[in-house]
Amino acid sequence: MTTMPETATPGAAAPKDNDILLEVQNLQMYFPVGSGFLSRKPTGYVKAVDGVSFTVKRGETLGLVGESGCGKTTTGRCILQLYKPTGGKVIFEGRELNNLSSKEMRGMRREMQVIFQDPYSSLNPRMTAGNIIGEPLIVHGLVKGKQEYREKVADLLQNVGLNPYMADRFPHEFSGGQRQRIGVARALSVEPKFIVADEPVSALDVSIQAQIINLLEELQEQFNLTYLFIAHDLSVVRHISDRVGVMYLGHMVEMAERNEIYRNPVHPYTKALLSAVPIPDPVLDAQRERVLLTGEVPSPLNPPSGCVFHPRCPVANDSCPAHIPELREVEPEHHAACLLASGYGNY
Ligand code: SF4
Repeated sequence: MTTMPETATPGAAAPKDNDILLEVQNLQMYFPVGSGFLSRKPTGYVKAVDGVSFTVKRGETLGLVGESGCGKTTTGRCILQLYKPTGGKVIFEGRELNNLSSKEMRGMRREMQVIFQDPYSSLNPRMTAGNIIGEPLIVHGLVKGKQEYREKVADLLQNVGLNPYMADRFPHEFSGGQRQRIGVARALSVEPKFIVADEPVSALDVSIQAQIINLLEELQEQFNLTYLFIAHDLSVVRHISDRVGVMYLGHMVEMAERNEIYRNPVHPYTKALLSAVPIPDPVLDAQRERVLLTGEVPSPLNPPSGCVFHPRCPVANDSCPAHIPELREVEPEHHAACLLASGYGNY
């Protein structure tokens, strides 16, 4: 077996800047399956996330992309400790979250919030917008008295571009974009440092998507927020992200600065994803090479051996089913997990 070149931090695309807010080390999330009513013993595991490592700098937006089922949402939930990871570490501001007691984690939850994909189902239809936004203020004891509560809710509504008089309306009285603004205001209410935005615009019309993305960018600047922005749409991620990570079947396959990954994709899966993104210019669109992937994404219950992408990879060779490629630096600050990428030698 060929020896791979060593790098300082295998598997992690560490930025130069030391102001790291979040570090994910070798994260694993295996869901047991097949445990019957009488037997607690699982018959197998769905490897939703399998050895993912990355860092996020303070004030940065890291975009996480990949097809449905690639593990990006599970990664976000493990970071927030909504799922207890099977293995690996999540380190937030130097504290390892896996080891915190539930009381300590409750305090930490204020720092880390989530914006969900579906603004239709993520808001309680029986609560007014004001109560939805204000509830976390009460839970975390952030307001003293009704007056301060009302003022805070009014401020939050204004921060997300809604009118304070809308506080008494119910979710069904808002449009999709307005509901997502309520979701953003609720996340903002506890003054978090870090927000996992899990497909926050996927359920919205294209014209509304841009408004929500712009709002998230403005709020990031105003409140020095750090985002993990999860999406399957590469064009959306390009607009908002500083760096982009591409996931496939529970693995991080490529990670680089935003423009670098779009200009110079290295991993065959990233190339395929990018070749499917529409280009507004019809001449350029007709000229470019398309990389068509064959077959379906394999089951994470029984992932392929070696490089998990090999059954669908257009350039796979005999070595690919036998070797697991690690995420390695192929260009400065550009990491890819492919045996054929530069620096791996001949396989
Ligand atoms: Fe394709 Fe092989 Fe690279 Fe995997 S390691 S992406 S199968 S060429």
